[in-house]
Amino acid sequence: MALTLRDITNRMVSAYRKADYSPAPVRNVEVDGWRGMKAILFTAEVIGSEGDTYHTAVEFFQVDYSNVQKPGWIPVETEDGVVYAEPPTMTYNNCALKCSCPDFRHRFEKELFDVGSLIGNWRRYKRAATATRVMPPVNPRNIPGYCRHLWSLIQALVNSRVVRD
Ligand SMILES: [Zn+2]
Repeated sequence: MALTLRDITNRMVSAYRKADYSPAPVRNVEVDGWRGMKAILFTAEVIGSEGDTYHTAVEFFQVDYSNVQKPGWIPVETEDGVVYAEPPTMTYNNCALKCSCPDFRHRFEKELFDVGSLIGNWRRYKRAATATRVMPPVNPRNIPGYCRHLWSLIQALVNSRVVRD
């Protein structure tokens, strides 16, 4: 199972009429590869609006690797040493996502887990309650999606052409 980034973006657009945010600074982008699993993982720190640092990760599956460099392919450290990965695309490669921010946890972790596109397990989340009422659910239609920090990482990866649109 798992969805592509295009699938997830389309679901956000149909639910919220948009899937973009104001860009946040992206730092320390790193790439790791697992050739045997045909997977590639991009991680980065993204700075939130309050100056907090969040840890973001985007993993792609069905990635082709080669021992020889081809135009535009990405050098990646894997269990076989440094080999070359074809840049994954938003349309073809299934993906899995994770961000350490509260918005991601509250709004998207369970929804992404349910479609096979969450990295790791979801953390059970109890909705905040005041003395007089329970707060409404933040994602009542259970739409899989991603937060501003992941959006910023994805934009950075597309702009540097290591992920294709
Ligand atoms: Zn986030």
